[in-house]
Amino acid sequence: MGAFETITGSCFCGANQFQITEPAVDTHHCHCSICRRVHAAPFVTWSIFPRSGFKWTKGPQLQTFHSSATVHRNRCTNCGSNVTVDLDAIPDKLFVSRSNFADMKADPGHPAATLRHAFWPDRVPWIEINDNVRKTQGFDT
Ligand SMILES: [Zn+2]
Ligand SMILES: [Zn+2]
Repeated sequence: MGAFETITGSCFCGANQFQITEPAVDTHHCHCSICRRVHAAPFVTWSIFPRSGFKWTKGPQLQTFHSSATVHRNRCTNCGSNVTVDLDAIPDKLFVSRSNFADMKADPGHPAATLRHAFWPDRVPWIEINDNVRKTQGFDT
């Protein structure tokens, strides 16, 4: 694995722009029904970054939707992109939607072993996924 390279990204309209200077600790595809419905997408790919390496370079102009008492989802007040999630359980880290990176080839730098299809039983039946990535019943088991 090469040295971590700074990642930039934004919501769709650009009102919210971020820069990440420390590698992710985790990346997973989330098939849970909450992510699917909040993002209006078949699944969402998240990387979890240390908050110490994350900063907004424009904005933030965000509205927070609390999908549970401890899970806070942040979307652009203008274009509606769901960009980050804050979890009370891990206050020193945040979830960032990998689809909002500026460069789709950008490497989040997470340990390879963390990559997985989380909440695999909740996946939609109308997309066939044949990769060799690990499937987990829930978040990480
Ligand atoms: Zn926006
Ligand atoms: Zn999810």
